[in-house]
Amino acid sequence: VIILGIESSCDDTSAAVIRDGVLLSNVIASQQVHAEFGGVVPELASRAHQQNIVPVVDTALKRAGVAREELSAIGFTRGPGLLGSLLVGTSFAKGMSLGLRIPIVDVNHLHGHVLSHFIRRNEDDRVPEYPFICLLVSGGNSQIILVRNYNDMEILGQTIDDAAGEAFDKCAKVMGLPYPGGPHIDRLAAEGDPKRFRFAKPHIPGLDYSFSGLKTSFLYTLRDEIRKNPDFIEQNKADLAASLQRTIIEILMDKLDKAVRQTGVTTVAIGGGVSANSGVRDAVADYCSRRGLTAFIPERVFTTDNAAMVAIAAYYKYLDRQFCRYDEVPYARVKV
Ligand code: ATP
Ligand code: FE
Repeated sequence: VIILGIESSCDDTSAAVIRDGVLLSNVIASQQVHAEFGGVVPELASRAHQQNIVPVVDTALKRAGVAREELSAIGFTRGPGLLGSLLVGTSFAKGMSLGLRIPIVDVNHLHGHVLSHFIRRNEDDRVPEYPFICLLVSGGNSQIILVRNYNDMEILGQTIDDAAGEAFDKCAKVMGLPYPGGPHIDRLAAEGDPKRFRFAKPHIPGLDYSFSGLKTSFLYTLRDEIRKNPDFIEQNKADLAASLQRTIIEILMDKLDKAVRQTGVTTVAIGGGVSANSGVRDAVADYCSRRGLTAFIPERVFTTDNAAMVAIAAYYKYLDRQFCRYDEVPYARVKV
């Protein structure tokens, strides 16, 4: 079975080819047009997808050494995401599959992030066993998910306001760092003192998250300090980043630990862009080794948006013959 996966939910155009669950190629074209706006501009994203999609798919097939005629099906991200962006991938998948007379498989982008752990580079690469807990932390979501099967996921907890990625990005913006700020905080944090500053942590019952209070607390700290010393940010960049990152990690780990204890599940995975963060990766790996749990930490290319995760999610649906009709349209919002 050979699946072409297409991802176009936000600002990355990506295509990947998977043969029997083993990755043959994964091509990602990131869009630079948004940098000067400090965030993704939907209309520009959609136009860039239109320019990128043909060469990206072409390159993915070439790198995989696969001819179009060999494809079994095309998987595409149907949502959630930016509608204009999703439309490009969806329309392309429909058109190409009609030409080739093969089925299309629609993929929930968040399922893709969770299932990224099933992408194998070699036949004998290990994959998680069900059930496992996945901490999905991305630009738009922060959720603790109980994954019983590729198509059976239960949200145990989720953010009631901002996502963890937004907390990184918004605080980074206040510090004057470029968008997206998450990777910049990660880099700066490596040289800073994580105990130097204290920021507010939420007190929310259950397994839900909240990050808006932290954001406000970060903002107020900066505002107060800048009054006393206009160069405060510049002089304390690394310590601010390290302290912010530590706080976010503590918030994430607190609820993750609760979820593990409540469910008794012994395998823990992380996914989504924030799982690229060095501190988050270390914290989860440490936690799991201390408690004798099996940890799944994805390769960094599979944490942010990519088509390999879409192709693998489509692969499992394909095996169950869960195809998508041609009158189905993309959706902007959905839960896992
Ligand atoms: P969603 O998947 O919820 O629709 P998205 O697709 O926009 O959202 P991703 O691409 O999975 O989100 O992740 C992007 C987010 O990950 C951004 O907020 C970015 O700052 C954050 N991020 C990426 N790398 C790092 C890092 N090293 N440290 C912290 N955050 C990071
Ligand atoms: Fe994503």
